[in-house]
Amino acid sequence: MSHPLEPIVALQKKDRRLIKLMREIRDIPQRKSDIEAQLAGSVKKLETALDSKRHTEVSLKDLELEVESLKEKINKYKLQQMDAQTNDQYRAFVKEIGVTEREINELEEKEIVLMENLEKGKSIVAECEERLNHEKAGIADELAELNERSAERMEQLEKMKADRARAAELCDKSILQKYTRIMNNKRDFAVVMVEPGGHCGGCHMKLPPQVTNDARNPTKIVGCNFCGRIVYNPPERG
Ligand SMILES: [Zn+2]
Repeated sequence: MSHPLEPIVALQKKDRRLIKLMREIRDIPQRKSDIEAQLAGSVKKLETALDSKRHTEVSLKDLELEVESLKEKINKYKLQQMDAQTNDQYRAFVKEIGVTEREINELEEKEIVLMENLEKGKSIVAECEERLNHEKAGIADELAELNERSAERMEQLEKMKADRARAAELCDKSILQKYTRIMNNKRDFAVVMVEPGGHCGGCHMKLPPQVTNDARNPTKIVGCNFCGRIVYNPPERG
């Protein structure tokens, strides 16, 4: 007669594939949110680059206005200079104009630095935009692929569940109950083979000779003394 554990072992194979498939389905939303988080990171980088560029532009505009007002100041000094009554007054204006021109020079040097920064800022913004557009395109493809895969896997899951139900019909009811209880607990294997040398295929502990013998007997269902998994010792394996 065939051993009553044979249909259980067949069922276990299906269950293991089901577990793997369900894990894959469960991981898809996580993968999607990882992708979205990555995109959000790139959007944030672009915003930071734009902020920095705007900040430089504002500083540059301020400097330009300051230079303008200093130039106006010089023009006023020059008009007043023409009306100077004494040499001392005249020299005082020359001095003031010199001081203001030096101020303008200093500001114009700062302007040059800011203009260089602005150019760098613009190229950083362009890089960020390019990267973001590239990512958006890639992500759209990947999300579409994930949605497609998710739908496929769900369909596959329904078929496998139906197939599993048919396989369960072939199993002895009380062994199936025991199997289900152990599977829910262990989550990997409920039935394990006796390994050469008489070790449990689940926890690898050495089994008592009585257990390895009983594990071959179609009228007996025995568990490992250590991990509780059902042990099976198919005759053809010796
Ligand atoms: Zn064991």
